[in-house]
Amino acid sequence: MRNLAFAVSGALALTIATLQGLSSAQAPPPLQPDQPVLYENARLIPGDGGAVIERAALLVEKRVVARVGPAGTLTVPASVRRVDLSGKTIMPALIGTHGHPGFQQGLSYSAANYTRETVLSDLARALYFGVSVVQSQGIETGELFYQLRAEQSTGRPFGALLQVAGRGIGAPNAGPGGAAYAGIAYEVTTEAEARTAVRELAARKVDMVKIWVDDRNGRAPKLSAPLYRAIINEAHARKLRVIAHVFYHTDAVDLVAAGIDAFAHLVRDTVMDDALVAAIVRKNVVVMGNLTTPLKPTDATTPPWLTPGDPMMTLLSAAVATPVVERMRAYYAKRDPRAVEGARQRYGILQRSLAKLNAAGARIVLGADTGLEDHYFGFAEQLELQAMVEAGMSPAQAIVAATSRGAEFLHLRDTGAISAGKRADFLVLDANPLDDIKNTRRISRIYIANEEVNRPSLLALMR
Ligand SMILES: [Zn+2]
Repeated sequence: MRNLAFAVSGALALTIATLQGLSSAQAPPPLQPDQPVLYENARLIPGDGGAVIERAALLVEKRVVARVGPAGTLTVPASVRRVDLSGKTIMPALIGTHGHPGFQQGLSYSAANYTRETVLSDLARALYFGVSVVQSQGIETGELFYQLRAEQSTGRPFGALLQVAGRGIGAPNAGPGGAAYAGIAYEVTTEAEARTAVRELAARKVDMVKIWVDDRNGRAPKLSAPLYRAIINEAHARKLRVIAHVFYHTDAVDLVAAGIDAFAHLVRDTVMDDALVAAIVRKNVVVMGNLTTPLKPTDATTPPWLTPGDPMMTLLSAAVATPVVERMRAYYAKRDPRAVEGARQRYGILQRSLAKLNAAGARIVLGADTGLEDHYFGFAEQLELQAMVEAGMSPAQAIVAATSRGAEFLHLRDTGAISAGKRADFLVLDANPLDDIKNTRRISRIYIANEEVNRPSLLALMR
């Protein structure tokens, strides 16, 4: 397994340095991220479930958190540089566990957009919205993602860190839905084919294996139980985790019994019953709510986050092309009330399942099917946080899911929390997300490896 700690810090450090070179005309005083820095007087949300510190001191040495405590209580080196963050809140950068980079360019959504430039644009946009890691989920073709991951590990310029799943595995015509994805996934019909696919993915050192267990609304036969069992066994023998796209409750029950490691969606046909929730908790299965694509049709009129002045709209206006934002708004112009009502009923199923999982202590992470059409990187994660809270998670629980638990799920041991030993990857917010989770959108600054991200330069990468 590659050395993630090295990969992340090396890549991001050089990334930010490179980005800063882009706007030297308005360069701030030179940053010296290896110098000790004391960030003082902010409210600190550690992201690992630990206590919030209302007026904190955060000491960073050599890009890593050395100590955290109440302001005025830490012993600091004489050479320390002090940064006053009075009135701000700091929390770890967000970890996105379910993305599909590369398909959208402006108004166009197609496999033809799947280029290096488009993927880099998605990764830049993710980081602009505060997302420092993007785990792609199996609609990946060719060498591009492997190349990008390798380049990130040696320090080429990017935004968010990319994790890959390679080509996911489904039954013929029952993999990822949508014309843009045709021909990308493995389509397997025998156990031997299923095992061969996993061995090929293992040879490429994917970060996890994605499978689809869904009949796509009756359009195709599902990946059968013998085949997904073969995939899970073959993957586990190679120390790889398997994450399932699932639709039906009955399949989720059997996938848990078969040893699945994570679900990329909640079941869509009914609320998870107590036995399934208990099994998910007992077997430590990671679950993502993935609420925001089904959330979209539940609004009868333009949602507040698409209105001028809203912090989300401010981010969108900066980071997403105007025609796309206009199309996002146009969607709500003429909704059919019956379609809205049906969508709300289906959405309620998801909300109730997520609430049950949360109450039972399941390992929930932030996954938002980011990168589907008009469901842009960063935007989707920010909206998902709001949806998680509206489904019954507390803001504190949603933040843990979106930070330390996501990092744990992705085996990124050096990020995801603001605590001693973690790399200094954090957001500086203008308002407290524990009061209102939407305050995660009020981003003042972003630090990765103790270097302030040059957000205007990220915007330049998107054009
Ligand atoms: Zn997906």
